[in-house]
Amino acid sequence: MDKSKALFTKAKKYIPGGVNSPVRAFRAVGGVPKFIQRGKGPFVWDVDGNRYLDFMMSWGPLILGHADRKVMKAVSDQAKKGTSFGAPTENEVELAELIQAAFPSIQKVRLVSSGTEAVMSAIRLARGATGRKKIIKCDGGYHGHADSLLVQAGSGVATFGVADSRGVPEDLAKLTYSIPYNDPETLEQILKKHAREIACFILEPVPANMGVVLPKKGYLEKVRALTKRYGVVLIFDEVITGFRIAFGGAQEKFGVHPDLTCLGKILGGGLPIGAFGGRKELMNHLAPEGDVYQAGTLSGNPIATAAGITTLKQLRSHGFYKKLNSKSERFYEFLNSEIKKYAIPVTLNRIGSCFTLFFTERPVTDFRTAKYSNVKRFARYFHRLLAAGIYMAPSQFEANFISDVHKPSDLKQAGKMISKTVRML
Ligand SMILES: *Cc1c(COP(=O)(O)O)cnc(C)c1O
Repeated sequence: MDKSKALFTKAKKYIPGGVNSPVRAFRAVGGVPKFIQRGKGPFVWDVDGNRYLDFMMSWGPLILGHADRKVMKAVSDQAKKGTSFGAPTENEVELAELIQAAFPSIQKVRLVSSGTEAVMSAIRLARGATGRKKIIKCDGGYHGHADSLLVQAGSGVATFGVADSRGVPEDLAKLTYSIPYNDPETLEQILKKHAREIACFILEPVPANMGVVLPKKGYLEKVRALTKRYGVVLIFDEVITGFRIAFGGAQEKFGVHPDLTCLGKILGGGLPIGAFGGRKELMNHLAPEGDVYQAGTLSGNPIATAAGITTLKQLRSHGFYKKLNSKSERFYEFLNSEIKKYAIPVTLNRIGSCFTLFFTERPVTDFRTAKYSNVKRFARYFHRLLAAGIYMAPSQFEANFISDVHKPSDLKQAGKMISKTVRML
């Protein structure tokens, strides 16, 4: 009896592809997705009773692990008082204050219900504030599924081979330039030629949706200097990196500050949320202050904000990131020593508590080099680990996450299993 299989068959009858977000269908790795019943700490259990050490962590939000006691209490306390009012609440103000304290570049912030919505709204704001139409993004940069950004996108789009989704009008896609990450020269060329038509440059400061890729030394500084010189709004999409690689995200870690920032994932502690914010002169273009329209029935939802507040308060406690990052570093050091010892043809990219093991020996510094990876080997690796009770993100072009509740002993065991698995592929 395999309940996941039975559920998937039924799901496909009612839901396109059986899933509500494409990568969940395991198309990139083949096979039948596990239907998850519950999670606790670093573990999830599927409907057939199998337990997995989880490195996907709901694609990043669960930095405190599954079903964190304090977050669960905040959620149930709030649920008893009501789920949504469509009127302002104290929670929204408190969460905005916490965001501002974490991200000094965010003078004003607006809450929405997903990362996609945050990015979509930030782009509209940049266009509205500058009166320009065109935008620049990076190849393999994933920013949710807003029309303008489904051009050379990473994450699920990367493995599905739809560089451009159908349904995105060519007239719109044409307004998006896509350039390689870590390539300030190409950025400068485009800005030199077209700056007057360009509203913004949006990028993941540390891309995680082509797998984890690190900025070359000085790249982010160069990006900041160029966008400033040419008067183009710089948007950091920190939906993954925000509250992940440092409390104040990549901008804290690298000391480079954008005009606008998009947040999501960890911000909601596992509930649907997103946010975008930045300099107040820019943010004041938003309705009702200004004339760029943006709204949401469930924006700033009381339960999502309660989960977010409780999550952020735990993250800002002294030494949180130091502990998480040094535990993660020991795990990477072990993996790297095994890779070296056995001359395993892989590359481990990592920062803080997120990492990707690429199935290529060549350095991965952008989307083009990420694609050197042998995705067939990746698929075998993924399934063998899954069978051994380790749940990695089901695609090569994704990040994996370590949470506060992954014990060093869990990581040690996982490290040994990963090494053994890649050696025997
Ligand atoms: C996940 C993600 C998004 C989209 O967020 P959703 O909540 O899935 O809409 C946007 N940008 C980045 C960098 C992401 O990782």
